[in-house]
Amino acid sequence: MSLLEIKDLEIIYTNGKNVVQAVNGINFTLDKKETLGLVGETGAGKTTTALSILRLLPERTGKIINGSVNFDGIPLLDLNEREMQSIRGARIAMIFQDPMTSLNPVLTVGEQIEEALMLHNIDNESKEEITKRVDEILTLVGINPERKKNYPHEFSGGMKQRVVIAMSLACSPELLIADEPTTALDVTIQAQVLDMMEELKQKLDMSMIMITHDLGVVAKTCDKVAVLYAGEIIEYGTFEDFFINKAHHPYTEGLFGSIPSIEDDAERLTPIEGLMPDPTELPEGCKFHPRCPKCMEKCKTEKPKDFIKGTHSIKCHLFAEEEN
Ligand code: SF4
Repeated sequence: MSLLEIKDLEIIYTNGKNVVQAVNGINFTLDKKETLGLVGETGAGKTTTALSILRLLPERTGKIINGSVNFDGIPLLDLNEREMQSIRGARIAMIFQDPMTSLNPVLTVGEQIEEALMLHNIDNESKEEITKRVDEILTLVGINPERKKNYPHEFSGGMKQRVVIAMSLACSPELLIADEPTTALDVTIQAQVLDMMEELKQKLDMSMIMITHDLGVVAKTCDKVAVLYAGEIIEYGTFEDFFINKAHHPYTEGLFGSIPSIEDDAERLTPIEGLMPDPTELPEGCKFHPRCPKCMEKCKTEKPKDFIKGTHSIKCHLFAEEEN
């Protein structure tokens, strides 16, 4: 059994008058100790999918209208708020892009980690035991425990993100959802934080969902990948399917073309033309067709199906034609 199984998930945002389909029939699974990369541009539905797992969609506007989310056999969408609270933080934790949104500026980092531990203190640990755990967790993320007396503003960006990671690991979750955890950091610190996360994942036997727009981050951290575009998974497969096979959805090819490498000069980077479509005016047929360099006539009217080969699936007419 997979640790996490998402089936036919559909999510809308509504303000009472207008309805926007943010996620449209997403399916994926995640095994124990596995990392899945959820990849795509802003507005693709990555964060909405992640928030729905924790049932943290904006209460008044976000709504799951179809599908199921099973975690370790538990149907999360059927739980009441109290049951969900026992899972959030304790069994599934999430870290956000900007560490400052997760840290309280008026509490020391030690107090904040302590608070996270107390919230789910199922083993009824004593105050001394909790203080010892705070020291252990800070050491785990490469911070001198002496610094637990410091406030968030006394830390650099990279160190703040380490504190946030420490807080999310406080209760040894089985699943960690990391939403663009290194985007706000400079490149050298990014690499250090990613290395640290990978090390922690191995040490703590965790599964991870890595939300990113960067295939470079995926190549460094993920066992499998789901590429999202306008609320749909348009390519899904293993690390090998993405980084060893050559066949890709034209949008994924565009993402590959946007990764700089040491050999590349700026002129060889080929960014994807155009913008993600407005969710209130999604195009007919393939949603990527107005931006697709390989668009055919039928792409403008016919919605492509998933073309599946082994573990690799691609939603594109080009691949369906190859099969016929
Ligand atoms: Fe491009 Fe057509 Fe494939 Fe869509 S279905 S990605 S428009 S070739």
